[in-house]
Amino acid sequence: MNKQVDYIIVGQGIAGTILAYQLLSRNFKVILIDQGFEKASSYVAGALINPIVLKRITKTWRADDFVKYNRPFYKQLSLYLGNTFYHDMPFEKLIYSDDEKYFWKLRYNQEDLKKYIAPELSPIKNSTPFSKEFFSGIVKETAWLDIKLLLESFRTHLKNLSCLIDSEFEYDKIIFQEDSIIYKSIKAKKIIFCEGSQLTNNPFFNDIPMSLNKGELITIKSNEIQTKSILKKSIFILPIDKDTYKVGATFEWKWENENPSESKKLWLIKQLTELTKAKFTVINHEAGIRPSTKDRRPAIGLHKNYKTLALFNGLGSRGCFTAPLLAEEFIRFLENKEALDKEVDINRFYD
Ligand SMILES: Cc1cc2nc3c(=O)[nH]c(=O)nc-3n(C[C@H](O)[C@H](O)[C@H](O)COP(=O)(O)OP(=O)(O)OC[C@H]3O[C@@H](n4cnc5c(N)ncnc54)[C@H](O)[C@@H]3O)c2cc1C
Repeated sequence: MNKQVDYIIVGQGIAGTILAYQLLSRNFKVILIDQGFEKASSYVAGALINPIVLKRITKTWRADDFVKYNRPFYKQLSLYLGNTFYHDMPFEKLIYSDDEKYFWKLRYNQEDLKKYIAPELSPIKNSTPFSKEFFSGIVKETAWLDIKLLLESFRTHLKNLSCLIDSEFEYDKIIFQEDSIIYKSIKAKKIIFCEGSQLTNNPFFNDIPMSLNKGELITIKSNEIQTKSILKKSIFILPIDKDTYKVGATFEWKWENENPSESKKLWLIKQLTELTKAKFTVINHEAGIRPSTKDRRPAIGLHKNYKTLALFNGLGSRGCFTAPLLAEEFIRFLENKEALDKEVDINRFYD
């Protein structure tokens, strides 16, 4: 006897987690298949929610839409899971040179950035022993997610609902029917693949042009760094607990293997010691592969031939920022036939 659900979701990174929650909260029946967080980019992410490209001080793609959607969404998900994984926290861009100061003022005078960046730069006010007398430029509408807590608590929740299959998906076990599929003993309207960088192993979607990149970050302990904001220069310093900070992240387009590398750890330590004389100890070092597409836009939609197979991927370096609203828009497409944003629709690769 087949178990019947609306959707099978493959992958429980941030994409699969948010999509599953959005479906469950609309009373759809869902089964999630995930092989564990070992290869999940989400599990190691800084998980910063940030609408601004801090180097150029420009808004990211559709920043206003995502900012409006995210806080109420994550607060609601926090309540649903009964924990506090969402933390509002400002960014402080560390600014030193006169050119940088001038550039900040120039940007602030842009009408569309006024909501996001503070007008005045001020000497940084905390007792961290910085290597220079930095000024601080505040970026607003920012936050971070305790992503391990979010993913683990959602996984426990799915297990309690008997909605989780803890294993690798087997593509050759799909049986295609007229307008549904059967996977092992489960019948569903569609399978939605949320496999992050492992999309490249998926025989149905491995033609999507990806530009994967590797990122690494370290977690440090220090009782000399003092900040209640996310500090940003060439690296970010994110306070996650008492005397505990995530420091990242690296970007690499070619890599030997997916493990954390000694050279990137040393690079992160070097950036940190150039910024501050504070003593610290590295207590963790992690790496993940960001699922970016060649054109840097998400990859969402239906397979060109098999309309029972769907994709929710390509979230690149900002999955925590974009997934909630993109998931809602995808559900409106699947259920109400509303058009997908052309910039995310995978049809752009098939035309
Ligand atoms: C170092 C680093 C820092 C980052 N910092 C940020 C940040 O500050 N803010 C931000 O928004 N984003 C950040 N990102 C990017 C963010 O991590 C990605 O956008 C996001 O994780 C993509 O999520 P995903 O769910 O698509 O993929 P993933 O998180 O990789 O999840 C895919 C899941 O699918 C499972 N899976 C895959 N194939 C199968 C299969 N065949 N069968 C069963 N299970 C399968 C995997 O095991 C995994 O659990 C960072 C990434 C890295 C590496």
